[in-house]
Amino acid sequence: MTPVKQKPAARFEKINMPPDTFRELGHALVEQIAGLFERLPTAPVTTAAQDETIRAMLQALSPASDNGQDAGALLEKTTRLLFDHSLFNGHPKFWGYITSSPTPMGILADMLAAAVNPNVGAYVLSPVATEIEKQTIDWIGRFMGYPAGGGLLVSGGNMANYVGFLAALRAATGADIRKSGLRNFTPNLVLYCSAETHTWVQKAADLYGLGTDSIRWIGTDAQKRMSPVLLEEKILADKTAGNRPFLVVGTAGSVSTGAVDPLDALAALCEKYGVWFHIDGAYGGFAGALPELKTQFAGLEKADSLAVDPHKWLYAPLEAGCALVKNPRHLTDAFSYHPLYYNFEQTRLNFVDYGPQNSRGFRALKVWLSAQHLGMEGHRQLIREDIALARYAADILRAETDLAVFSSGLSITTFRYVPPDLSAHVGEPETEARLNQLNQAILNQMEAGGAFFMSNAVLDGVFVLRMCIVNFRTQAAHIEAIPEYIRMIGADLYAKMLE
Ligand SMILES: *Cc1c(COP(=O)(O)O)cnc(C)c1O
Repeated sequence: MTPVKQKPAARFEKINMPPDTFRELGHALVEQIAGLFERLPTAPVTTAAQDETIRAMLQALSPASDNGQDAGALLEKTTRLLFDHSLFNGHPKFWGYITSSPTPMGILADMLAAAVNPNVGAYVLSPVATEIEKQTIDWIGRFMGYPAGGGLLVSGGNMANYVGFLAALRAATGADIRKSGLRNFTPNLVLYCSAETHTWVQKAADLYGLGTDSIRWIGTDAQKRMSPVLLEEKILADKTAGNRPFLVVGTAGSVSTGAVDPLDALAALCEKYGVWFHIDGAYGGFAGALPELKTQFAGLEKADSLAVDPHKWLYAPLEAGCALVKNPRHLTDAFSYHPLYYNFEQTRLNFVDYGPQNSRGFRALKVWLSAQHLGMEGHRQLIREDIALARYAADILRAETDLAVFSSGLSITTFRYVPPDLSAHVGEPETEARLNQLNQAILNQMEAGGAFFMSNAVLDGVFVLRMCIVNFRTQAAHIEAIPEYIRMIGADLYAKMLE
């Protein structure tokens, strides 16, 4: 008896939007986005409602339904929701953390990348995209004068640093450890970084099973740069104690103040003691492309691995981080496996062998298009302008008697408000506590208010307001408006504190 062939019913076609509908909805969406660009310079930085209000709005907008909704209406109300209740890091007065304004080119690139949707894990799945990512890696290396033998795009600075960290670890332990695991490894592996290092290093030590006790936090000079003298002392002490130094992390542009470690001196110590040199340039690495900063970044080219963040100073929309290595073998040694179900030719570049991801999106496209659109000189110019604006801010703030500047490095300036009647008591513990409290209150009010957006740093116990300009829309006039605004909310909050 032949089995009855059950012909499947017609597909659920709603998912497969007709091209004409796509055209219509896409044009409408692009129209909305262009309108946002037009409004941004005069709109508030944020119009975000209270958390509960947002949750209530979402409840009302998209109740879980069985039958779905009309695509056009859905896109329209979602666009409105996002445009009316977001924090805009593309706003000219957004200077919080290190989050850049996204390039319009990058926004279009992400759409194009999604449309083609190559899986950039394997060459066979993404021939053009793989070559474009490779070119992007080369471009990024050349831009900074880093001799990259290989590298890959990842989601951000943390991931890029994890890639460098594991490459260092595998280079130190050898390949066998991939099978037997670190539990059988002696001696104790230890790593070094400045006290200013971003918190990714703790996550990495933790994730890879070394534990955060393996981190040696090295003291810094007055400019918050790692002291090579203290570093060497600690390496020697560890060797004497029978520990195995395997990694020095230099920071090129610290998150708090934009400090750049003495990379050349760190590289020399790494060479001397046979230790892997990794540089975290997530924020500042790209500033190494400026000829006028060559001295400050000398030694960057000596790193075994380097992490940078195209979604910071190359203005790519989130997400785009990048890990570079001198020798790509260190990546394959750390990440490559060849299961039977991969029909990937090993003579071709398969990015799956270079990092932790399997399926990989086409992150490179936005970086690659921007690189070509603006050119190296365009990108250098944008970084240069941000640095000049941050210095201008420091100059403007220094001229005010009730504003005190604490640091100015790369495109980061830190300062605090000091009410006139407290200025004679600065440094006294009670006044310092009060100033910390006041400046924290200023920051909170600023973040909620929508006129400016900054974040903070704590420098030797002092709470300071911190502005980091990675923003192509910022102009001198936006900077000039800071003192009056800070004085206005500062004086008001101080008066309330005295009540
Ligand atoms: C931003 C930053 C990171 C983390 O990068 P993400 O892209 O946020 O993951 C790490 N180190 C430094 C110095 C950074 O500025």
